[in-house]
Amino acid sequence: MGRNGQPMRVSVIGTGYLGLTHAVCMADLGHDVLAIDVDAEKITKAARGEAPFFEPGLEPLLRKNLDAGRLRFTSSFAEVGEFGDVHFICVGTPQTKDGSGMADLSYVFGAADALAPHLTRATLIVAKSTVPVGTSRQVIGRLRAAAPAGDRVDFAFNPEFLREGYAVQDSLTPDRFVFGVTSAAADELIRQVYATPLDSGIPGLTMDIETAELVKVAANSFLATKISFINVMAEMCEASGADVLKLADAIGIDERIGRKFLSPGLGFGGGCLPKDIRAFRATAEEKGVTSLVDLLATVDGINLGRRERVLVLARGAVGGDVSGKRIAVLGAAFKPNSDDIRDSPSLAICGRLADEGAIVTVHDPVAMTNAARVRPDLRYADSVHEAAEGTDLVLHLTEWADYRAIDPTALRAIVASPVLIDGRCTLDAAAWRAAGWTVLVPGRPG
Ligand code: NAD
Repeated sequence: MGRNGQPMRVSVIGTGYLGLTHAVCMADLGHDVLAIDVDAEKITKAARGEAPFFEPGLEPLLRKNLDAGRLRFTSSFAEVGEFGDVHFICVGTPQTKDGSGMADLSYVFGAADALAPHLTRATLIVAKSTVPVGTSRQVIGRLRAAAPAGDRVDFAFNPEFLREGYAVQDSLTPDRFVFGVTSAAADELIRQVYATPLDSGIPGLTMDIETAELVKVAANSFLATKISFINVMAEMCEASGADVLKLADAIGIDERIGRKFLSPGLGFGGGCLPKDIRAFRATAEEKGVTSLVDLLATVDGINLGRRERVLVLARGAVGGDVSGKRIAVLGAAFKPNSDDIRDSPSLAICGRLADEGAIVTVHDPVAMTNAARVRPDLRYADSVHEAAEGTDLVLHLTEWADYRAIDPTALRAIVASPVLIDGRCTLDAAAWRAAGWTVLVPGRPG
């Protein structure tokens, strides 16, 4: 509901991980929601109550709001333009394929261009897609130039901070809302959309559009830096015979540092952090902020280096050459509680091992269909035991909670050679060793 207790008419453009979650959560706040995507299959599935990706808690909420008649899906931008008082742009901003690291803004501009001719009355466009600073001004210009409503089209940039795996709770109860606006009216309207969570005490920070654009990429860059920091500490620990987990606990207890995002291991992947820091680096290059370019290049390099480190350990664990070796890989998603395999560290390692001649069998609780689409050359197993049977090496590369429940004694009985590399530093190494395994954990002794 809006601030006056009335539902608002909200549209959501793009129904991927961000957009579908946002549409469902907007409906759950009591608004009337119409969502659109250029992918007809996604729309058909969502309208049937099926989320086209795995996200805990999303499907029940999708069905609840479909049944309540608060959420509909369409393929018509004319219908969206006619319907919405507030339109959220939630389309993808992937990395361009030219190696520059820049964000591909064609989907954002495409969505704006498709919507603009149908904006015939005063309306608010809210961009949520993560974009380089300065993009919003370009979007506003395009919209106003092409919309019949012209300058009565207002604009806000409202970055999204949700984490896949916790997307619903993060959307409905984030740490803060950020509103980048150019008018008091836009600020008032976006605050009406989020009246329920704002009234519950969640901070809403209003600022200029450029600062809001930078807030999102600065937050992701800080998180990425924190992960790469603990991973260089892992390297230092390995070189010194020290234990990075104990180090992380000891420094993380300091409130100024904090334990979150100090998990050593394989580093970050996914559809956000890697491409966001690369796009930010490209923007910093354009603007001549060389210290930021250097920082982000280092963070990215450290992160990619973790994958190399696991490959080195894997080759060493099987005598120097993985060719012909049977390797089980636990986890394909870029992180647990998600089926997202975009820039998955695990799949990158699987690919390299397979390219070097290893026979790689992958298990993941939910991401195998997506993984098989991009790496059909790998083998996939329905259970950990099926994946591990007869293998020379087991790699733990995505830290699903299920894997912490594996019985190492039972698994020991079916492998050819009991060697485990715990790339995520989350398994109970002592228990695995007690069951007869050789356990290698980057950054930990032994
Ligand atoms: P996604 O690829 O899952 O979804 C993007 C969707 O937009 C796709 O379904 C695509 O078909 C659709 N689309 C593309 N062009 C369109 C158009 N012209 N009209 C309508 N639909 C169109 O991507 P995502 O993960 O949801 O990310 C979307 C944006 O949100 C990105 O900028 C991302 O950086 C940002 N973001 C994502 C997350 C996350 O956890 N996934 C978190 C915060 C921010």
